[in-house]
Amino acid sequence: MVGKLGHNTVGLVMVFTGDGKGKTTAALGTALRAWGQGMRVCVLQFIKGNWTTGEEKAIKYLNKGIELRRFGAGFIDFNDEESVARHKKDANEGLAVARLVIESRQYQMVILDEINYAVSYGLVDKNELVDIVKNKPKDVHLILTGRNAPQEIIEIADLVTKMDAVKHPYKKGIAAQRGIEY
Ligand code: ATP
Ligand code: MG
Repeated sequence: MVGKLGHNTVGLVMVFTGDGKGKTTAALGTALRAWGQGMRVCVLQFIKGNWTTGEEKAIKYLNKGIELRRFGAGFIDFNDEESVARHKKDANEGLAVARLVIESRQYQMVILDEINYAVSYGLVDKNELVDIVKNKPKDVHLILTGRNAPQEIIEIADLVTKMDAVKHPYKKGIAAQRGIEY
């Protein structure tokens, strides 16, 4: 399943942002498409906790074409210094791994899921992320998700899609559904 990209591959910087649902699922859908084309994909998830999601289970069936790692402990309590410190440590570790993974050229697509939150919550340095994005190898596709994408990242990106929250079942009290939210 390890595939090489052609000579003329243009590695894109893609951003899924906005308040509407669909950012992570759009990234995972793209990962599935790339995997189907024999590409290796690395998904690094920021902030998220350790609960098992459908995508994690699905990836186990994909014969190692997609790798997924999480950095974070779920809910951040901004009133609790320890919670914030732990999240900062995890997110910074994630960003360091992101740089290595992107530069390794072992993956033709790298997804930094919820990285925009990590920046807007002040868990990681925005300039560090901008540096990683600007200096990525030219043939590696990079996807960044999460609300509040930094303006600098939007400017560098080749593709930016903003999900618009027209309706969400949560608003009428419907809890997160298995297979839809996780
Ligand atoms: P998904 O992972 O389903 O693609 P997402 O990545 O766009 O969603 P996040 O901001 O990462 O959304 O938030 C994840 C969770 O928050 C999901 O369970 C999602 O359904 C929920 N969510 C997203 N947008 C909204 C909204 N506008 N109102 C309420 N809940 C939302
Ligand atoms: Mg998401």
